[in-house]
Amino acid sequence: MLYKRSSQLFAEAEKVIPGGVNSPVRAFKAVGGTPIFVKSAKGAYLYDEDGNRLIDYINSWGPMILGHAFEPVVQAVIEKAKLGTSFGMPTELETQIAALAVAMVPNIDKIRFVNSGTEACMSAVRLARGFTKRDKIIKFAGCYHGHSDSFLIQAGSGAITFGSPNSPGVTAGTAKDTLLARYNDLENVAALIEANKNEIAAIIVEPVAGNMGCIPPNKGFLQGLRQLCTDNGILLIFDEVMTGFRLAAGGVQELFNIPADIVCFGKVIGGGLPVGAFAARAEIMNYLAPLGPVYQAGTLSGNPLAMAAGLAMLQALDTDRAIFQRLEEKTAYLAAGIDKVLKANNVTFTINSIGSMISVHFDAAPVVDFKTAANGDNETFKKFFHGLLQEGIYIAPSAYETWFITDALTYEDLDFTIRAIDKVSKTF
Ligand SMILES: *Cc1c(COP(=O)(O)O)cnc(C)c1O
Repeated sequence: MLYKRSSQLFAEAEKVIPGGVNSPVRAFKAVGGTPIFVKSAKGAYLYDEDGNRLIDYINSWGPMILGHAFEPVVQAVIEKAKLGTSFGMPTELETQIAALAVAMVPNIDKIRFVNSGTEACMSAVRLARGFTKRDKIIKFAGCYHGHSDSFLIQAGSGAITFGSPNSPGVTAGTAKDTLLARYNDLENVAALIEANKNEIAAIIVEPVAGNMGCIPPNKGFLQGLRQLCTDNGILLIFDEVMTGFRLAAGGVQELFNIPADIVCFGKVIGGGLPVGAFAARAEIMNYLAPLGPVYQAGTLSGNPLAMAAGLAMLQALDTDRAIFQRLEEKTAYLAAGIDKVLKANNVTFTINSIGSMISVHFDAAPVVDFKTAANGDNETFKKFFHGLLQEGIYIAPSAYETWFITDALTYEDLDFTIRAIDKVSKTF
């Protein structure tokens, strides 16, 4: 397949947009080459500016769980747009989507909508700090909670020392309030809590990690975090921006039956429009302005187009709960197919998957945290990525990303993908 026009468009973009992209991972920095420019998408497929059709395993990094241009979402947005696109005043629609989200997700009484997952996580942490009157938070190396300052803390700092900024522009003052822990390592978390008694406001975690490949929690890990938080007056924040409305209607809280204190959403909840949200029981949410002292706001928050798209998406997931089962079966089918061909071709690999999330790591050891995720062979991944691109299959241009299975993918698409992986992995 040729990607000539995409290359030309990228050259034009680079002149006026830093790196040619509005979010860094879209540039093919980790794999080489130039990004593909999309013209349109429908169901499981992307159509690019060169006229290629690609099977999409990124799905806008998560939101398109029912496939691209899902008809009820498209219709809802068109109808709402005719009535005006933003008011900065309350609409009934906001209450409708809030009520549905509160009904679908366990342990939340109230929810506030924002414009991105980043905003949701940033606001959740501010709320937790205000509520507990403590400053520090614990996050896990390799977990991503958006690009706000508190979260851009490097992996690899000593466990019980302060984090250090991994992006210029994050001040040392901010970094010192973020303590880094190892995913799936409860003892590490317990030690951090012990060393910072009564200073930790919140532990924020991706309850199933999806930003260092897909890493499910070890048995007992989330339960242990819950216990440590309860015992120490710490709020447990589940960042379900990726997993919310994806791994179950009620997210990971429902899947593993573990209650969080604050839950963050994004991606699926907006049906492909810019939406994030955070939610908790009333006692915590009432701490937000205008009821309480913690300030948080947004000119376009609860925007009618975004809320219409999100509501149509949540209604579709709420009415057909069998979707989650179907997605899990497709993922398991793909995982088994990939396992078979990679073994047959003597490739060293590990596959992690859960629900509709899957990642292939080119390393034999179990991938359970950031360190083990970083062991993957990036040269093999590059060949894998570009090989699949030539076969018309689009996976994320980074070995640290999860693939997302959508309801629109057919078993023919999955078989095609497995055959392509067989072909490509023979060239490693
Ligand atoms: C994508 C993501 C975010 C950030 O959401 P944006 O909408 O990109 O700001 C936060 N947390 C997790 C777990 C994510 O996957």
